[in-house]
Amino acid sequence: MEMDLSPEHLAIREGVKKIVDRFDDEYWSACEEEKKFPFEFHKAMADGGWLGITMPEELGGANLGVTEAAIMMHTVTSGCGGYNSASTLHLNIFGPHAVVVHGTPEQKERMLKPLIAGTDRACFGVTEPDAGLDTTSIKTFATKVDGGYRVTGRKIWTSSGQVANKILLLTRTTPKDQCKKPTDGMTLFYTDLDKSQIEVRRIPKMGRNAVDSNATFIDDYFVPEEDRIGEEGKGFHYILHSLNPERILVGMEAVGFGQNALSRAAQYARERQVFGRPIGQNQGIQHPLAKNWIELESAFWMGMRAAHLYDAGKPCGAEANAAKYLGAKACFDACTQAVMTHGGMGYAKEYQVERLFRESILPRFTPITEQMILNFIAEKVLDLPKSY
Ligand SMILES: Cc1cc2nc3c(=O)[nH]c(=O)nc-3n(C[C@H](O)[C@H](O)[C@H](O)COP(=O)(O)OP(=O)(O)OC[C@H]3O[C@@H](n4cnc5c(N)ncnc54)[C@H](O)[C@@H]3O)c2cc1C
Repeated sequence: MEMDLSPEHLAIREGVKKIVDRFDDEYWSACEEEKKFPFEFHKAMADGGWLGITMPEELGGANLGVTEAAIMMHTVTSGCGGYNSASTLHLNIFGPHAVVVHGTPEQKERMLKPLIAGTDRACFGVTEPDAGLDTTSIKTFATKVDGGYRVTGRKIWTSSGQVANKILLLTRTTPKDQCKKPTDGMTLFYTDLDKSQIEVRRIPKMGRNAVDSNATFIDDYFVPEEDRIGEEGKGFHYILHSLNPERILVGMEAVGFGQNALSRAAQYARERQVFGRPIGQNQGIQHPLAKNWIELESAFWMGMRAAHLYDAGKPCGAEANAAKYLGAKACFDACTQAVMTHGGMGYAKEYQVERLFRESILPRFTPITEQMILNFIAEKVLDLPKSY
């Protein structure tokens, strides 16, 4: 059993790091403060060919697995950009999975090529204000008309909607109460996000402000038939396929930026002198940081295990959820401790850890909350009665 990164994995890490290192704290804090999408970083990653890491080779992708994507995204967040950097790219990696698996050859060519080239940017329209985590209760409805569908509904938290020109949109085509199963009757589209017809209203939020999140208002919007992914009524099942890769990636992204926060804390602890010695000489400072290292490292390897299972075509739901849970928690604790280690200066923007701290709570509840992960493990692994 090989429990280390292969030479190919290390080459991915090195290639990504070369790009990531060009974007420093000054760049990312300006993007955050000015709420400005990191176009330059996005372009650099597209030019480097990284946006198509999991996409088919014939479309310009690298056709690699979730393991390689996880290493890539972990390296991305190990730089200075924190969750902002991950969110700039994240949807390109797992979002179009439904198109990769269920799209027609024409759709793959039309939809994936510009995503890989970085000329299209896509957002993900699943969450709705009145449905929350109960996705089968979404109300956005697509009514069949000649040549396509007319869609009406509300989405919330649609990230990068301000800069995206495409949306992966989950709708209902049959009301839930008329379906055999609640997961039936939902249809997935990948279509234009035409802002002359769809209102995309930015939500002011605590952190990760370089990448916007929005309330999205869709009223009687025409979506052509050729933008429907797969069969009508099967959209939820298509989305399900991309959930495990998404969880693995989010977990690994969280580990990367937790480790970045930890290295900043350790550096400060080595350098800051109080009572005539480095603060890092105190066990009260050392031990929490050592604990952060242990937790981040464990989360990393759980993520790698989940990715390995996924790529081998084996069930990985429990491991993918566990990786996301552990990564997010370890990241949050490391970012909190990074602020605490800096004392008052942890609160100053100069040291960057407050920026990471504000972002670090996010992976704990997106794309899925800790409670729902625990519900999943309790039910599917421990065979306890479903609680919701
Ligand atoms: C910054 C940001 C970006 C996002 N980007 C996107 C995006 O691009 N596209 C998109 O579609 N969505 C996006 N989301 C939405 C995100 O995925 C949801 O916020 C998340 O899934 C939680 O859903 P909710 O907020 O509706 O929580 P709710 O469903 O309202 O739940 C609230 C709380 O109740 C708990 N709870 C509910 N039911 C149970 C139960 N049965 N057992 C135990 N606990 C329960 C939940 O765990 C949670 O803690 C984003 C959210 C944020 C904050």
